[in-house]
Amino acid sequence: MTQPSQADIFAALTAQAQAPLRRDSPSTSPYSAFLNPLNDLLTTTSTSLKVGSKQVNTRRIYCPREGCGSWILSEGVGEWVTVDGPVLPTDPSSPFPPSPALPSGTPLWHISSSPFAFDNIGFSKPDLSTALPPHTPGLQSNSQVKWLICAECDLGPLGWSYEGGKEAWLAVERVKYGEIKKV
Ligand SMILES: [Zn+2]
Repeated sequence: MTQPSQADIFAALTAQAQAPLRRDSPSTSPYSAFLNPLNDLLTTTSTSLKVGSKQVNTRRIYCPREGCGSWILSEGVGEWVTVDGPVLPTDPSSPFPPSPALPSGTPLWHISSSPFAFDNIGFSKPDLSTALPPHTPGLQSNSQVKWLICAECDLGPLGWSYEGGKEAWLAVERVKYGEIKKV
């Protein structure tokens, strides 16, 4: 596997920018709706479902901003992973809830394939002023952080990626979840 070049990533972003906006005006719920009881996290009414050895998102993921609701990630694309502690910088004035502290760690959606895996996402310029904690997945000594932001309203950071990298991580508590589709 080779890393996508800058040109590939810009091509992906340009393709997203030119595509018609994907939005389906869903009824969405914040992550906190799935936390009580904690055991519900792994049921099919929750946000994730075990597929093979992985747990993936069962619900479509949307921008949490009221009135935006941009479609960020489709079902089955994000893998549930946990890390040792919070990663994203916290700001008391931010609209985001604190990272949920689960016994297994801080949960994240890991998008491993490519920037094309998102339905809509924006990336910040590399942020050289913010150091992520050492337990951050994918972090290397020369990593330049690019924040994930809503492609439509710029709300963020919803997660992060790295300059030149193909992987990304979304904070489970900073996005909203659609209804389970009835088949
Ligand atoms: Zn938005």
